[in-house]
Amino acid sequence: MIADEIRKLHEELPADVQLVAVSKFHPAEMIREAYDAGQRYFGESRVQELLAKIPLLPDEIRWHFIGHLQTNKVRQLLQHVAMIESVDSEKLLNLIDVESCRLGVVTNVLMQVHVAREETKFGFLPEELLEYFKSRKYDTLKAVNIRGLMGMATNTDDMNTVRADFRKIHNLFHEISEIYKPANPDFNKISMGMSHDWPIAVEEGANIVRVGTRIFGERNY
Ligand SMILES: *Cc1c(COP(=O)(O)O)cnc(C)c1O
Repeated sequence: MIADEIRKLHEELPADVQLVAVSKFHPAEMIREAYDAGQRYFGESRVQELLAKIPLLPDEIRWHFIGHLQTNKVRQLLQHVAMIESVDSEKLLNLIDVESCRLGVVTNVLMQVHVAREETKFGFLPEELLEYFKSRKYDTLKAVNIRGLMGMATNTDDMNTVRADFRKIHNLFHEISEIYKPANPDFNKISMGMSHDWPIAVEEGANIVRVGTRIFGERNY
């Protein structure tokens, strides 16, 4: 069943859209099933959970961290992840830079944007993020590669609102690209869309989608 969903998603997704299979709260055996069906990118949202799973699974897996990252967990995480999609503050970004320098690695990150109409979600406000790039604060970074943006739409059945949220993220991506792409041609990722809204996200320009429930079923928190 997991294998079927992976195959179906890869058929449905345009070739240039990367699928991150969100495996949080699901055991290593289920991740292995997806891996055996050809899936290589997986998303986790808690550091301890990710670190526990890594030794149980193949080294070929590329882990994306997608949860709120506490600063005291950064050091443990860095060597194990292909990308941190959920950078939600300058403080965190700068710490990832310092720790990456120390380890001699370059860490790929996405900046998390908050556009959804919900109080509880983490991320930069669009105007905050634009200001970050306009004022060229990224000039101080030595060991972080800012690859793009990650965002979530409002949690609603109203697909017009969802589409409008994704469009905001894409528009912001374009505005930032104009400023930042000359400095970093690698700024080319837009991660948006989950199980229930990924087709709209892809229509609105996503090139990474993060799908959990559709692949692995409901989570038991
Ligand atoms: C859990 C999670 C997902 C996956 O959500 P589903 O609805 O299960 O597909 C995607 N992105 C983030 C940031 C998440 O925390």
